[in-house]
Amino acid sequence: MINPETHTCSTCKYTWKHGQDGSHECSYFLLETIKELEAKIAKLKQPLQLSYDPDLFAILGRPNFACAQISALLRLDGKDIPKKAEMEQAFTLLYLLNLWLKYGNEYSKVGDKELAALHEKYIKNG
Ligand SMILES: [Zn+2]
Repeated sequence: MINPETHTCSTCKYTWKHGQDGSHECSYFLLETIKELEAKIAKLKQPLQLSYDPDLFAILGRPNFACAQISALLRLDGKDIPKKAEMEQAFTLLYLLNLWLKYGNEYSKVGDKELAALHEKYIKNG
């Protein structure tokens, strides 16, 4: 059996090379880990601030006439979208923003797939 290159403490995740002395104080590494996690938590607690992103601008700048097709598919899929251009635009932008928040710059690929599936389900085979 081949020896591993490194060993990792199961308590604090401290790693050392095989053959070297692995003695350490778990508490020191655990305190460092707590500090890192507290910093991450503090960052996550910050309110979401959106800034310039070309995809985000493409979504937010989408004109209402370019939202009719997507909102029609979402309506067929059960979303209660009033038949008013501004509401169709609002629902479409919300749909696209949620995709962007979840998938980042892959949002349009995912959205295209989802919408193609809805088109297949309700229009082609409907
Ligand atoms: Zn340890």
